[in-house]
Amino acid sequence: MALHDVLVLNSNYEPLNVCNVRRAISLLILGKADVIVLRDEPIVSAGGELDSPAVLRMKYQVKRPLPQLRLSRHAVLARDNYTCQYCGVRAKDMTIDHVVPRWVGGPHTWDNLVACCRRCNLKKADKTPQQANMTLRRKPRRPSYIPYLSLPTYLKAQGRDEWRDFLPYFPEVQSVSVA
Ligand SMILES: [Zn+2]
Repeated sequence: MALHDVLVLNSNYEPLNVCNVRRAISLLILGKADVIVLRDEPIVSAGGELDSPAVLRMKYQVKRPLPQLRLSRHAVLARDNYTCQYCGVRAKDMTIDHVVPRWVGGPHTWDNLVACCRRCNLKKADKTPQQANMTLRRKPRRPSYIPYLSLPTYLKAQGRDEWRDFLPYFPEVQSVSVA
């Protein structure tokens, strides 16, 4: 049978993880989860047809520690939605800018790194925003993404129609303006 992925929600509907359909079916058989969304095509196996889940919800609340969100180039670009934080242009070939440049002690941290297009990167060069006369559209912050899903899993999950309704939306990632 085809091993498609299944989104697993906690009992409070927060996304918990993504598992394969075998694991999903065993959760159902063990009575640990309920089906929230079914896929259109059933699973055909030697034993006959079986309903194929797309989204499950655990019957009890699974407690897990919050994962550390790792600071990386990809994570900064995703937080900024691939949008230049100076001019607002959206592009695939973004660079990462140190708002306070490294040579004046700018740290490599969530609140000092932003997505920056190549044009703005050239213009800003090694200057501070004030020296370059450029303004940040919003104050960069450590994002508070999904409690459980990793960022790559979250981004992948956003591409799935059956899952999208269950993924949290993060307004603070979209627009926090700097006065
Ligand atoms: Zn720009």
